[in-house]
Amino acid sequence: MQTVEVLRELSDGFGVAGFEDEVREAIVRLVSPLVDEVRTDALGNLFAIRRGSDGRTLMLDAHMDEVGFIVKWIDENGYLRFVPIGGWDERIVPGHRVVLLTRDGTKQLGVIGTAPPHIVPPEDRKQPIPMEKMFVDVGATSKDEAAGMGIRIGDPLTIHYPFTELHGGTVTGKAFDDRAGCTVLIETARRLAEHSLGMNVAFSFVFGEELGLRGARTAAYQLEPDLAIAIEGTIGADMPGVSPESQPVRLGLGPAISVADRSIVVSRKLIAALEKVAEDASIPYQYKLPTYGGTDAGAIHLTRGGILAGVISVPCRYIHSPISTLRLDDLEHTIRLTTALVDALPGAIF
Ligand SMILES: [Zn+2]
Repeated sequence: MQTVEVLRELSDGFGVAGFEDEVREAIVRLVSPLVDEVRTDALGNLFAIRRGSDGRTLMLDAHMDEVGFIVKWIDENGYLRFVPIGGWDERIVPGHRVVLLTRDGTKQLGVIGTAPPHIVPPEDRKQPIPMEKMFVDVGATSKDEAAGMGIRIGDPLTIHYPFTELHGGTVTGKAFDDRAGCTVLIETARRLAEHSLGMNVAFSFVFGEELGLRGARTAAYQLEPDLAIAIEGTIGADMPGVSPESQPVRLGLGPAISVADRSIVVSRKLIAALEKVAEDASIPYQYKLPTYGGTDAGAIHLTRGGILAGVISVPCRYIHSPISTLRLDDLEHTIRLTTALVDALPGAIF
């Protein structure tokens, strides 16, 4: 299976934070042939372990969850009201298709309806619609009809456009934050599958990052790694209207090494080691400008007595929207860097 097909399957999978089952099942299927052990925990984290010979453990983290919504009310006419799960920009939510996952596992389609301009007063057309006024139309005409579709309060939903290839090695889809990271972990495991390893490598696919780095905290506690790298799909902002000093990362410049984000200031020793591994392997890299966003490394480095942790990201534009984009060459360079780290990082840092 090509890297792009792994990203396609994971991007199209349903994995709103707290409801990651479909994505987790896909990853189990993809990663199981490549590692020594696969296990899950009570909260839904997934660990795929390769055993090495030197007793130390490298944790490679990516989060399975994506931003979405949860049904908070079903009205008498069958419309659904919803609240966000994770950080959305309200301006981009109306006027999209959604997919909803019922408790019995069936999917229902709907649209986030908006009043047509004909009936919206001119002064309101320039205002974003508050999320509490938005609604989903699933085609039901009554509360009972929605119930008959299996829809209940608490069901998760998200905006869904199918993964699509654009021009020149650029692809678009939902949830590249962080299915791009999940893809990097799976492809790294594939490239290491025939290798014997020094460190144990714990590929850690965690739940609930978008709700405050929840899964990474309990994952790091269990794994007790000597070193951890979070792999993210992060904020590409090289686009019209954004000045260079406000672009956290840019597409086409390779993986982004974080120096500091809102959750961690990365050890300079670790940054230097990452730079050396990239340079020795002739892999281009850039820095993620401080201090945009938080990452799983923020939770990991504060676990137990403290864990040395850093972040490498695939540049993705338009994250936390249904139409994120990335360049496959950036994805490939991130996989190459992560693969190179497994052999070279211990020597560069310990
Ligand atoms: Zn993320």
